[in-house]
Amino acid sequence: MNPIPRDADPADSLWEREFLELAHGLVMAGAKTRLIARYTGLPLRRIRVLYRTLRGVAAPSGPIAQGSARFFALRSRHTSAAWNIQCAAFLGCYERIGSLTEQPLHRGWQLLAAFNAYLAITDSLTKSAAVKQLDINQCFALLTRCGFLQDPRAELGRRECPSCLISYLVVASLPASAQPCPVCSMSNNARRLAAQAAAAAQSRTRHSR
Ligand SMILES: [Zn+2]
Repeated sequence: MNPIPRDADPADSLWEREFLELAHGLVMAGAKTRLIARYTGLPLRRIRVLYRTLRGVAAPSGPIAQGSARFFALRSRHTSAAWNIQCAAFLGCYERIGSLTEQPLHRGWQLLAAFNAYLAITDSLTKSAAVKQLDINQCFALLTRCGFLQDPRAELGRRECPSCLISYLVVASLPASAQPCPVCSMSNNARRLAAQAAAAAQSRTRHSR
């Protein structure tokens, strides 16, 4: 997949092949039709045909960006520390891909390249630990909430954890102290559970004597 620079125009015949490749890649990744249209300039009808030809399924419809800033960064009934780590892993891929070339990359191209890299590095983890991966539409929503890592006024920012040094997501309008590092939270939790299990085992042995 040849990189597409930021200023390439989908209407320019010079880039026709690259934008078609991008559209195919986005279809295979399950991107919403409107998202593909935005980044490739292809008409919605043609994208629906691509979905049917390449994957034999109907194209996913509906609005493009979904998920509030809190959904990506905070722990709740629906999201966990592992989810926050997945979001940070995707953003790390997006940033790394962006630093590969001196020239700014086309955002749709960078999204797809980062998404494929993210899937590759998190695949084994998600299979073994049953952690949910982000889909490409969520990745796009996440990028918009982060201002594509270029807007300092974005709703979501990143904070480097002083103890484990990972860079994780925080809601910019909330105090950092209320948003602990997800990796450290998970390991503290694991330590607490291990200590509880050890205490329970010890009291069982004491009672059985
Ligand atoms: Zn940490």
